[in-house]
Amino acid sequence: MKIEIIPCLKDNYSYLIIDEKNKKACVVDPSEAKPIINYLDKHNIQLTFILNTHHHYDHVGGNSELKKKYNAKVVGYIYDIKRIPNIDIIVKDGEIWEENNFKAKIKHIPGHTLGHICFHFFNEKNIFTGDTLFSLGCGKIFEGTYLQMHESLNFFKSLPLETKIYCGHEYTLKNSNFCLKYDPDNKNLKNKIINIKKNIKNNLPTVPSTIKDELECNIFLRSSNHDIQSSLNFNNKNSLETFSKLRDLKDDF
Ligand code: ZN
Ligand code: FE
Repeated sequence: MKIEIIPCLKDNYSYLIIDEKNKKACVVDPSEAKPIINYLDKHNIQLTFILNTHHHYDHVGGNSELKKKYNAKVVGYIYDIKRIPNIDIIVKDGEIWEENNFKAKIKHIPGHTLGHICFHFFNEKNIFTGDTLFSLGCGKIFEGTYLQMHESLNFFKSLPLETKIYCGHEYTLKNSNFCLKYDPDNKNLKNKIINIKKNIKNNLPTVPSTIKDELECNIFLRSSNHDIQSSLNFNNKNSLETFSKLRDLKDDF
C-alpha cells in the first residue's frame, strides 16, 4: 500500500492510500476534488472509498464531486451521519472497516469535534489523525471538553512507536515554536526542528511524523512531564490540568 500526500487548499493535506496492484485507492479527508482527480487520472487509478475523519468543510469539501465522478463510497462516523455530506458507510468506535485490501480500525477521538475519528491501518502501521493529533500539536477544542481531548490524545500513546502519523494540516513549524517555548531543554525537539526546517526549505511536507517523535517532542502528549509543568509554574498539577493550560496558551500563541 502506497500513501500519496496531496496538498489541498492553503495548508491541508489529503491522502491517497493506493493499492498499486489493483490500481484502486481510498482518499482520506479530500478538502477539494481537483488535486485528487489530477493525481488519480494521471496515474490511471480508480477511487473506491472516501474516508472522513470529521465533518469540517476542509476535510469533506471534495466528497460530492469525487463520489459522482468515481462512484466512490463515503465512510464516516455514526455520530455525524447528518454532518458528513454524501455518507454511505457508517462506522462505529472500535470497529474494523475492511473492503478490498483496505483494513483499518476505527477509533472515536472526540475533542476537536464530537464525531471525530481516526483510521488506523494497523497492518501497515499508518494512522490518519485528522485535526486531533498534529505533528507537534493538537487540534483546537471546538466541540468537546478538555477531558475528552486529553483522553483522545492519550490513545495515541498506546500505539507502536514506529506508527506513521498522517495529520490534516501542515502546522508543524508553528507548532514547533510553541513546543520550544515551554519545553526549551528538549534535545529531541531541537533535532526534530532542524529536520522540519530542512523539509520546509525544500518545499516538502513535514509529515508523516511517528508516534515515537510525537511522544518525545509534542508538548500536548507530554503534559505529565515535570520540566514542562515547572515551566508553567504548575508543579502540583496533574496531566489534564497541564494539558488544559497548554491548550489555552496555544489558542493565543
Ligand atoms: Zn477540523
Ligand atoms: Fe481542518
